[in-house]
Amino acid sequence: MSQSAEVQHEVQHYDVVIVGGGLVGTTLACALAVELGEAYRIAVIEAREPSPLPKIDENSVFEPRVSALTQASRQLLTNIGVWPKMMQQRFGLMKTMCVWDADGTGRIQFHGEDLGQSELGFIVENRITVACLFARLNDFSNIELITPASIAELSAPQADGSRLVALDNGRQLRTSLVVGADGAMSKVRDLAAIELQEKAYGQSAIVTTVKTEKPHQHTAWQRFLNSGPLAFLPLRTTAGDDHFCSIVWSLDDEQVDDIMALDDGAFKIALERAFESTLGSVEQVAPRFKFPLRQRHAECYVKEGVALVGDAAHTIHPLAGQGVNLGMLDVAVLTEELKRAQQRELPAGHPSILKRYQRRRRGDNALMMGTMRGFKLLFGEGALPVRWLRNTGMSCLNDLEPLKNRVAANAMGLSGDLPALARPDYFNPSF
Ligand SMILES: Cc1cc2nc3c(=O)[nH]c(=O)nc-3n(C[C@H](O)[C@H](O)[C@H](O)COP(=O)(O)OP(=O)(O)OC[C@H]3O[C@@H](n4cnc5c(N)ncnc54)[C@H](O)[C@@H]3O)c2cc1C
Repeated sequence: MSQSAEVQHEVQHYDVVIVGGGLVGTTLACALAVELGEAYRIAVIEAREPSPLPKIDENSVFEPRVSALTQASRQLLTNIGVWPKMMQQRFGLMKTMCVWDADGTGRIQFHGEDLGQSELGFIVENRITVACLFARLNDFSNIELITPASIAELSAPQADGSRLVALDNGRQLRTSLVVGADGAMSKVRDLAAIELQEKAYGQSAIVTTVKTEKPHQHTAWQRFLNSGPLAFLPLRTTAGDDHFCSIVWSLDDEQVDDIMALDDGAFKIALERAFESTLGSVEQVAPRFKFPLRQRHAECYVKEGVALVGDAAHTIHPLAGQGVNLGMLDVAVLTEELKRAQQRELPAGHPSILKRYQRRRRGDNALMMGTMRGFKLLFGEGALPVRWLRNTGMSCLNDLEPLKNRVAANAMGLSGDLPALARPDYFNPSF
């Protein structure tokens, strides 16, 4: 990988220009380099200077932003050669998931072993995943990382279908495909005039790390309160201490500022009460951060010479920890389609290729968003018949092992119509 931020005015040509070097954009760059080979020229434009791989020891503080990664995401990161490096760092194992209703007796448990897996998923700090992805970019001579730099302008499609990308450092790039991987506030989406459907969930998430009296038992715990879901996600220090959890506490907007304003002592008590002291007392709490939650969905994922992936295309409620996992599936599918373009000697931005990408991803993502919205509404409802229905539904599903395991396998990326890069039987002879 070559790296440069100097001002150059000569127009340079790339097969793909990826704007945004977050979790999804860097995964896409690595996936394209692995699948399409050294001749394929890729530029990654990232606004922030990347941080080096953190040096982690048993006393290192956990980063507040973590992601629950599914088996499909693990598989993709394995197939592009990033996962082994991540596993040398620090991660939590999610062997079991326990979900229950604060307003009744409904409870459901999913176990990795029921699906033939030792774990359902993995909890990894975002900074570790991103740093390992950046380290992997270095292995590919056909990827140019341009940072710190932002996209300033995007031309209309040229006669040959290509687009010109002007950066804020004066550089100009020409490409057949610009990929917007620049997150929820995507500038690529705006410059390409792609409309956005946007709805507030009326909730914000408080994110922090806590130490609890009892070990977490490698379980992701989620209690559904009328005011929003509260999740404790299992972390583990390098010394194997399993008393730390990452908290995602979603709360209605009317309540969140009051909870944020509590001092640490009062916050610990409020958290313990909301969690029914399931892991005993909350002994330590790290600084808290607040994230307003909005559902966003791009009207379309593609336009002439432009495609959107990850949060640039969709953001959803974190209650099922699916956001980045959906982005990873966007990457796997877009890579598959760009490989098809290469085999047919079509340019990366060929309309038939982009349309196939959109067809394969937008419906699936819309379904997941609808499901999350349904959950949020269902559990926010205090009326007795609804409470009875959801508690009975949860208990029945818990007793119906085959159906329950099918639901879990789908959510964890172990079944369904998975793209090749996200499957365990992936084989690349050149890798
Ligand atoms: C509280 C919370 C908890 C979550 N938990 C989970 C979870 O457990 N599991 C899960 O799957 N998902 C989870 N998510 C969602 C997940 O964090 C996001 O889906 C994921 O970060 C999206 O990655 P991305 O690369 O698409 O975007 P981002 O992470 O936003 O990255 C975008 C990148 O683009 C760069 N950029 C922005 N604009 C420009 C520009 N103009 N030019 C150049 N570069 C630019 C930014 O610097 C950044 O590096 C959670 C979200 C929240 C809010």
